[in-house]
Amino acid sequence: MLHIQNLSKRYSTGDLALSDVSLEVDAGRVVALIGPSGAGKSTLLRCVNRLVEPTSGSVFLGEAELTRLRGGALRAARRRIGMIFQEYALVERLTVMENVLSGQLGYVGFWRSLTRRFPQAAVEDAFRLLDRVGLGEFADKRADALSGGQRQRVGIARALIQRPDLLLVDEPTASLDPKTALQIMRLIVELSRERDLPVIINLHDVNLARTFADSIVGLRLGRIVFQGQACEITVQT
Ligand code: ADP
Ligand code: ADP
Repeated sequence: MLHIQNLSKRYSTGDLALSDVSLEVDAGRVVALIGPSGAGKSTLLRCVNRLVEPTSGSVFLGEAELTRLRGGALRAARRRIGMIFQEYALVERLTVMENVLSGQLGYVGFWRSLTRRFPQAAVEDAFRLLDRVGLGEFADKRADALSGGQRQRVGIARALIQRPDLLLVDEPTASLDPKTALQIMRLIVELSRERDLPVIINLHDVNLARTFADSIVGLRLGRIVFQGQACEITVQT
């Protein structure tokens, strides 16, 4: 379980991006962060994986207090956090398989140039994951030959190969057409359930949040302005 306690972030520019934010995400549950641009959604995700240092407050993942970790312990904790991005962040000229393995092996080009092969167990693991996300036939294709939805599936497989304890997902569907967006959201929710993973997902689209998230946190100017079950939210269209 992820537990965020009284988290605040003031950037050196003076912007108060987060103000006293607390929330919990249970294993196997999906929490959507919604709110206008500048509300603090990205800052919240970055404080959890410590790409941004919070000004105050704490983040616990299970028993571990992420906000206290340094050095090697912090790097180890980060490997337990899977990230999924809006623009996929794939290495375009590498294959699907290589992109997925890079989630486990780090900088894949360097590693590969030394040995020219990957550990068999890692490859088998990656094949299983690619099958699960519907890309079993695509392992040897280059990333730049894929559609947006397929790229995001690679991004999901890469995030999962490290067997994370938490998934942080930043606007996963913002670059996709509506039908593909639904498929990707459905896949993320299924994987959260199957692997008992807590998931925080930043979404612009309130309707997607209502359809797929177990609960919704509304942020505005760094503060929580709404927190509740997805069914409690009404949307004017
Ligand atoms: P959102 O993801 O909801 O669009 P952000 O977390 O990106 O919101 O931004 C929240 C606020 O923090 C905004 O006012 C933004 O300008 C500011 N901000 C974000 N990143 C930085 C940064 N690196 N330095 C200074 N201010 C930042
Ligand atoms: P996102 O697409 O996640 O909302 P942004 O487009 O807001 O991100 O920000 C892009 C980059 O610029 C990020 O690294 C963010 O930290 C930084 N940034 C955002 N707002 C500011 C700001 N007001 N001052 C300095 N850096 C910022």
